[in-house]
This record gives sequence, structure tokens and C-alpha cells, in this order.
Amino acid sequence: MSGKVYLVGAGPSDAGLLTLKGYELLQTADVVVYDALVGGEVLGLIPPETRRVDVGKHAGSHPVPQEEINRILLREALEGHTVVRLKGGDPFLFGRGGEELELLAEWGVPFEVVPGVTSAVAVPAYAGIPVTHRDCCSSVHIITGHTKKSPGARTDYRALVRLGGTLVFLMGVAALEELCAGLLGGGIDPATPAAILERGTTARQRRISGTVETLPQKAREAEVGTPAVIVVGEVCALAERFSWAEKRPLGGRRVIVTRPRKLASRMTAKLRALGAEVLELPSIVTEPVAPNPALDEALARIGEYGWLVFTSPTGVRVFLEHLRETRFDLRRLGGVRLAAIGPSTAGALEERGL
Ligand code: SAH
Repeated sequence: MSGKVYLVGAGPSDAGLLTLKGYELLQTADVVVYDALVGGEVLGLIPPETRRVDVGKHAGSHPVPQEEINRILLREALEGHTVVRLKGGDPFLFGRGGEELELLAEWGVPFEVVPGVTSAVAVPAYAGIPVTHRDCCSSVHIITGHTKKSPGARTDYRALVRLGGTLVFLMGVAALEELCAGLLGGGIDPATPAAILERGTTARQRRISGTVETLPQKAREAEVGTPAVIVVGEVCALAERFSWAEKRPLGGRRVIVTRPRKLASRMTAKLRALGAEVLELPSIVTEPVAPNPALDEALARIGEYGWLVFTSPTGVRVFLEHLRETRFDLRRLGGVRLAAIGPSTAGALEERGL
């Protein structure tokens, strides 16, 4: 029986912007196929035992061609696997999500689409730019700045300028100069506010602000790289008052949490709540010593001991599991005093009635 493919939007990077449905699917997938725009925080949510296929572009290597990605999805599904195809932002918005469904549809492979929070709206929001605002715009237009790939789709700047709404360009970093020149040629007021927003929703997000006339020069000076969203319109001026992400206590900080995976999530959540970008990189694994003759020997003579000292909640858990496995009667601990190092360790003992 064939498996199923879930085309899932990962959001722009911040793991908090992954949908609940996307998160749940990541927990149950057999394989996750992802590309370069998926944030490190989101990748950290994939269970360690789940198979991952990276089809994104990385320094020194080429991205996997689209046809090959389509074939990978088909092959995995036909082998009966549950596949999550994880894409940056929303899978359909300039994401080639539709192309990936074509082959599946042809072969009758079942699929579902889980929309994502698109960078076109979220990246401006994290920079303090609402894409629409009261009286200043009656429309938003999302445009690809990468017209080279589809030469038929030339941007009609005159029409864009006439519409007068907020303009959001994706994939436009390399073409920024050309875009601004096009808008000026289309008759836009050269003083119209504009901004380029690099690596939005991450700790390294940057906003370079200017006008349609000055932005290309400013972006060059700041050496803006990809990915970045370009916004043109009166709403850009609001960022001066509305920027918020960098102002959080840990805004702009990246933190790596090395605790064992099971124990990391509470600390990660706290750091994220303070605005940090948090990557979980479990570098510690705690395992029970088994067999443990020294412990068995000490337990056999437990009556001779005055104190039992616990150094961590894990120590408490492993010790009591050992007692259960060896059918050791807890009442035999009655004569021994208990000491705990730290409140969590004490809490772990209290939770177990000690
Ligand atoms: N499907 C995606 C867009 C894919 S096109 C979405 O809905 O967001 C890729 C473009 O998205 C990039 O060139 C850039 O313009 C934009 N982009 C994606 N993530 C971004 C981020 N974290 N910060 C800035 N721009 C981003």
C-alpha cells in the first residue's frame, strides 16, 4: 500500500511559527524531505530517529533538481512511507509546491497540504512593518524578484505603481537595483519608503530602511545577503515606531542548549519566550549503569548505611527503577536518611513519596 505525502509549510524560520498540524506531522513522519530555507529551529523539532533528506542548496554543493525531488517524494510514498515535504514559508507561495504534487497526482499517491506562515507577511511583521495599515494602502502585492527563471513573467512596474498598495518582493536581493529602477521608471514617488529585511524571524534579522531611490545603495553598503524580503510602501515608515523583535531581552541572541533532549524543552521554551533563537544540540546522554554490581552490593548491606545522597533527578529515577527491577522492598530504606542536592532532586524524591 502506498504511503502519503504531506506538503508542509515550515514558516520563515522561528520554530514558533510552524503550525500545530505541521509539528504533529513531523513527530509521526517516517522521512522528512526539506530544503535550505527551513530554519534550524524547525529542523530541531524532527525526532532524532526520523530519516532526513536534505534537498537544499549548501555551500559547495548544488541543490537537488526539482525533477529529482519530485521523484524522491514519489519513491518514498510508493515504498509505503509517511513523507513530510517541509518547505520554507508557505509551500505554494513561490515554493513550487504545486509542481511537487503533479507527479503524485499522476500516480494516485494520496497527499495533503499544510499551509505555512509566509515570509511575505511574517518577515515584515517581525521587523515592525504591518503589510497593510489603516488608510495608507488598500492592497498588498507579492511579487517575485527572480524573473530570470520565468522570462515570460516580466514585471509590469507601471501597473504596480498605479495600484498603489504595499509591494512585497521575494527573491529580489540580486535584482534590487533593477526593481527600484523599474518602479522609478513606472512613475513611483522616489521618496516612497522602502526596506530590505534580511534573515527575518531569526536572531540575525536585519532591517535596512530607505526610499525607493536610496535603498539599493544602502543595501550594498550593508552587504545584505539572502534570504531577504523587500517591502515598498508607506507602511515601511512604521518600523521606526513598531519594531519589537530586537527589543526583547534576548532578541538578537542565538543560544545552543546542550542538555539531554528530554530535559531541554523547558529551558528552550523559556529562552525563546525571551526572544532568543534557540538550537537544541543535545551533547549529553545519561544512561543507567547496567549491570551495576557496586550498587547491588551496597543495597544488600543498606542497613549499615546512614545516608543515601542523590545528586540529580536522573539519579533518583534510575535508582528507583533499579529497585523496582530487582524487586527491592522500599521499606528496607526506612533506616537510612535521604539527602538531595538541589531543589529538582528533592522534588523528584518527594514526587515518589520519599
Ligand atoms: N514559500 C516561501 C517563499 C519561497 S521563495 C514563503 O512563503 O515564505 C524564497 C524567498 O522567500 C527568499 O528569496 C526570500 O525573499 C523569502 N524568504 C524566505 N524566508 C525568509 C526569511 N527568513 N527572511 C527573509 N526572507 C525570506
